[in-house]
Amino acid sequence: MLRYLEKLQVLYFLEAQSENHYGEFDISFVEGSVSNREDEERILDIRRRSGMLVAIGACAISGGVQSAGNFEGIIKSEPIDAFVKVDYQLPGCPINKEILENFLKSILHGKSPYVPEYPVCLECKRRGAVCITVAKGEVCLGPITRAGCGAICPSFERGCYGCYGPVHKPNLESFLAYFPQAYQTIKLSANAYNKIYREKLWK
Ligand code: SF4
Ligand code: SF4
Repeated sequence: MLRYLEKLQVLYFLEAQSENHYGEFDISFVEGSVSNREDEERILDIRRRSGMLVAIGACAISGGVQSAGNFEGIIKSEPIDAFVKVDYQLPGCPINKEILENFLKSILHGKSPYVPEYPVCLECKRRGAVCITVAKGEVCLGPITRAGCGAICPSFERGCYGCYGPVHKPNLESFLAYFPQAYQTIKLSANAYNKIYREKLWK
């Protein structure tokens, strides 16, 4: 990671450096959700200052676990794309180091960044893991969840609980008809308030 960061000028990263400059940015990577008026003003300001805005992690992309409170009828936490245009999303909770490295590498080579859009099942099969849905009948959100983690959970014989959020066009009708109990797993996940789930499940 450092070899890529050394080729970039990191202007503002409070957790990693003591000298910071809050000015104009070619690219801004934003973590965290929007929970109050101050957050909203900040993300609008960051968008104005940034050529490219990248949402990283389940909180920024979907609202995070704190968005579970939204289902009580009061909006408590929202993803940043509810307020500003987001150019790219790096999913995960936490995000994957290789995906971030590949993203930075593409930027440094002047290419369009690529972030996996296919489901976790593809990584699972590539890894040679036994399907726990087929073998044990256990719930696994792999078919509807974005790849990128390397299918960590199924490779340890545990069902995916969807921390990378939904794939672009999940076949939710078919998936939930097979696994109605997955509905609750999705609703309790850090990605429950993701736009795709909001539009298809909690209308
Ligand atoms: S274990 Fe999960 S991710 Fe792996 S193939 Fe089965 S459903 Fe897909
Ligand atoms: S398998 Fe699913 S829950 Fe586990 S790390 Fe990957 S996306 Fe997250």
